Amino acid sequence: MTHDDTWSIKALDTGTSVVEGSVLTYLRHCGEPVSIPRVIWVLEGSTTIVVDTSVNPLRKPNEFMGESFERSQDQIPENALKAAGVAPKDVEWVILTHLHWDHAGNCDLFPEARIVVQEAELRYAIAPGRFFRRGYLSPESGWPLPPSYVVPNLATVRGVYEVAPGVTVVPVPGHTPGSQAVIVQTASGPYCITGDAMMTYDNIESDVPPGYHTDVDAAMDSLDLMRARSSLLLPSHDYAVFRDRPVTLIASR
Ligand SMILES: [Zn+2]
Repeated sequence: MTHDDTWSIKALDTGTSVVEGSVLTYLRHCGEPVSIPRVIWVLEGSTTIVVDTSVNPLRKPNEFMGESFERSQDQIPENALKAAGVAPKDVEWVILTHLHWDHAGNCDLFPEARIVVQEAELRYAIAPGRFFRRGYLSPESGWPLPPSYVVPNLATVRGVYEVAPGVTVVPVPGHTPGSQAVIVQTASGPYCITGDAMMTYDNIESDVPPGYHTDVDAAMDSLDLMRARSSLLLPSHDYAVFRDRPVTLIASR
């Protein structure tokens, strides 16, 4: 491992929702309100990579989804990126862990970037099962705009794919058919940005999958796969990730 193959990781808090606990852990904590972050991750190394792009405020997709959503001035993605010292035009790659509304909402902030998504996810997002249509803002959901992930610079990949030396995407299906985790080499070892394959540390500690899934058995296999790849897991919706807000330095190069 050379310095060229290692990366820093920053977590950006770009909005807050209150959800019911069983959204995060399947059939557990029903009725308990939990405050969760909407995260954009920034990787800096031989180039700049963003993982997930958070909620787009246009036409209020959160209201369409029936979920609360608050965003302070500091949490506006442009402001959080600036606080992290990142210029959107310098971002070469955007990796989307999956195409749900709260993870793929601001791809247009990064006009120079190629958008990396699993082919299986793109196929499913265009025509999801009826229960999941709204979560994808799919054409059949009644959402009035084209889905935010339909951009010309989409780079669909199949399976394990090295985006750059030290940054590799790995399929972790279950939450959605084409979910992918991102393995990132850092000075402290490999981190795993899990997407919604792991929403909180409780998923691993209690060995319970996230509350939403298209395949619960696959979701459990994906928890095992991520555990095997890294002991440094970064779940998608756990404020325990944040020491500082809106930006926390998770790992250095
Ligand atoms: Zn999701």
